[in-house]
Amino acid sequence: MASPNLPPQIEPAEVKWKNGVPESVRFGDVYFSREDGLKETRYVFLQPNHLAERFAEVRPGGQFVIAETGFGTGLNFLAAWQAWNGQKPDCTATLHFISVERFPLTRDDLIHALDLWPELADLATELIENYPPLVKGAHRLVLGGGQVRLTLYFGDVLEAWQALEFNADAWFLDGFAPARNPEMWLDRAIAQVRAHSRPGSTLATFTSVGRIRRSLAAVGFKVHKTRGFGRKRDMLSGLLENTCEPMPPGGSDTIAVIGAGIAGCLLARNLADRGTPVTLVDTASHQGTAASGNRQGAMYVKLGVEFNDQTELGLTSLLFSQRFYARYRDQCWHPTGLLQLAWSAQEADRQRRFLERNAYPAEIFYPVDRDEASRLTGVQTQSGGLWFPGNGWLEPARLCKVLTDHPLITRVFNFEVGRLLPLNGKWQLSGPGGSDISAHRIVICAGHQSPALIPLNGAYRLKSIRGQVTHLPDTSLQTPKAVVCGTRYLNPSDNGIAVTGATFDLRDDNPETTPESHHENLTELQSMLPGSLSREAPLTELSEQVEGKVAFRCTTHDYQPVAGKLCDIEGNELTGVYLLTGLGSKGLTYAPLLAEYLADELSGQPACLPKRLGQRVGTRRIHKPDTLSS
Ligand code: SAM
Repeated sequence: MASPNLPPQIEPAEVKWKNGVPESVRFGDVYFSREDGLKETRYVFLQPNHLAERFAEVRPGGQFVIAETGFGTGLNFLAAWQAWNGQKPDCTATLHFISVERFPLTRDDLIHALDLWPELADLATELIENYPPLVKGAHRLVLGGGQVRLTLYFGDVLEAWQALEFNADAWFLDGFAPARNPEMWLDRAIAQVRAHSRPGSTLATFTSVGRIRRSLAAVGFKVHKTRGFGRKRDMLSGLLENTCEPMPPGGSDTIAVIGAGIAGCLLARNLADRGTPVTLVDTASHQGTAASGNRQGAMYVKLGVEFNDQTELGLTSLLFSQRFYARYRDQCWHPTGLLQLAWSAQEADRQRRFLERNAYPAEIFYPVDRDEASRLTGVQTQSGGLWFPGNGWLEPARLCKVLTDHPLITRVFNFEVGRLLPLNGKWQLSGPGGSDISAHRIVICAGHQSPALIPLNGAYRLKSIRGQVTHLPDTSLQTPKAVVCGTRYLNPSDNGIAVTGATFDLRDDNPETTPESHHENLTELQSMLPGSLSREAPLTELSEQVEGKVAFRCTTHDYQPVAGKLCDIEGNELTGVYLLTGLGSKGLTYAPLLAEYLADELSGQPACLPKRLGQRVGTRRIHKPDTLSS
């Protein structure tokens, strides 16, 4: 890695191995007991929190939330996951595990550490496969077929608890001994533990230091000193007694999702996997027809030169998508790698500044020169660029189909929603010929048609941008073996066709393909990758021959996506209406994480995005103040 001070990397743990047991060089303390780490975890954290009994009581569609200070080797997490599986809770119940880590183990150290536990091997393998690159921020890992959701925050404990929204049922306080690591045990950190606890929440910790016991008691926990593990004399467990705070909303109401493109399909499936029935409505006769109906789409986002909220959102989305699509590998996801070509002097300069100001792990991307770029993509490039080894291309319509094949998803197609009207605590979606559907909550995921459905007065800073893609037969070009992005993208060929595009036509609502748009795509491709098109036919002739598709992107004024409860211009929420749109040409990158974020919110579960990023994607910013009708 480059300089340690550059974002977004996070300093890894320096681990020393003594008789096979990992020890932190920085803190001079062990990650777990030398005697038997797994036994210790069960004794110190699982049993005092009564996890086995409490897991067994989780109802279908319910949740249990564990929060931990210090992820370390992930041993506590894996032991909790194993206990969850042992109780065989209903497959729609979710175990959330939220953990913070200031000095994450490298993947190699994690593999080494977890190798110690053969009985956890399967779970460890899944964790290792999904372990994020060492970059700051919140990483949501969806594991165990969706029954286990790990939110791993790489950063400081106080920052994490201030950033994240959740209410824990149980706590593992595991941040090295207070004398060696006072930062983890500050009164402010303990106050945050209380602030994030549900009534009836329990805690356990290996330490019995008097100051910690008093701090926990001062914020309201009933704390008990009990016998410690092995040679440790004492440890603590605690209970936040049940007050009459209300429980989070149950999942008994109904949800309708309008729009069966990639955003709507991802959201519907996400909710269904959590046990929530969903009605998925679309005007078309099947899912994935509009912008999500393209044969191929590149999964890609251009990361900003400055590491700000916008860049963090792009990066977090990119990493989440890579993990998410991995389960559809070869079915409809093709992680061929992707080259962001330095196609002009201006782009080369932007990439140079980007590399100077940031330090990304090579597993996300690394710079390549022209020869390397040509070797990796299999086409002759005129310049180098940035190589993203985990990116690739997707068949979006196919994914939409796979996603919506779920018993809890009711598909209502050929249904054009006219208006949304509030009626008896529900929303009524009026459809063709006087038919209607009603639901307690609705999510508008209708791409460029979303503004017309918003049941609020006013105008929105959402615009529709025409995009035409061109289908190039193999015979007309040298096809790459990886995705190449510049002024256009070019995908590897699939069934004899490689898709390139797309045009970016503001104020053009022509739904038909035109030779002019094909010509524009081909000209751009020619200048981005000279020599890629075979010379036989002149471009004008080829433009008349090729096929393609037109779709309309929905974009916001700031080119950032929108996901959240619908707010009016003053920020007041409109009960039961949510929006997920504005994905522009980056839908394949943003949609999986934003669907996860909205599903968290709709099911009253811990948020996968820090509050900061949640606000960044919020709906308030899309109101156009000057045209608001009175
Ligand atoms: N629960 C872990 C396991 O199952 O392997 C062991 C945790 S280890 C005892 C304590 C962890 O707390 C270390 O990984 C350490 O890097 C982390 N840590 C220390 N100070 C921290 C801080 N201020 N914020 C977040 N994490 C911190």
